[in-house]
Amino acid sequence: MRVLIVDDSSVMRKIVTRGLRQAGFKIDEILEAGDGQQAMEVLGQEQVDLILSDWNMPNMDGLTFVKEARKSIQTPIVMVTTEGGEGKVQEAINSGANGHIKKPFTPETLKGTLGKYFG
Ligand SMILES: [Mg+2]
Repeated sequence: MRVLIVDDSSVMRKIVTRGLRQAGFKIDEILEAGDGQQAMEVLGQEQVDLILSDWNMPNMDGLTFVKEARKSIQTPIVMVTTEGGEGKVQEAINSGANGHIKKPFTPETLKGTLGKYFG
């Protein structure tokens, strides 16, 4: 499994990485991007199996990223965000996101929400 973590906070990318490891997922490689634009560049060069994306980011936010990514790839995208509003989550799902995890999260939450993507 190769996972792409998209977040403008390097601290948050580390927290997500640690959470994935604590959840016990088998991960071959973690790739990182600081915003949606960088994520699109990574996806132009790399194949990943799962994408975890923040919502609020400079240059290209998470919602725009989902819309852009869905023009070319079907890789699962799960939003990891403080935006808990039902309308916003629904908007992301309608735009092609596969799920949603609220910050702060526990390894158990990650396990429950992301387990189905780790065969
Ligand atoms: Mg952010």
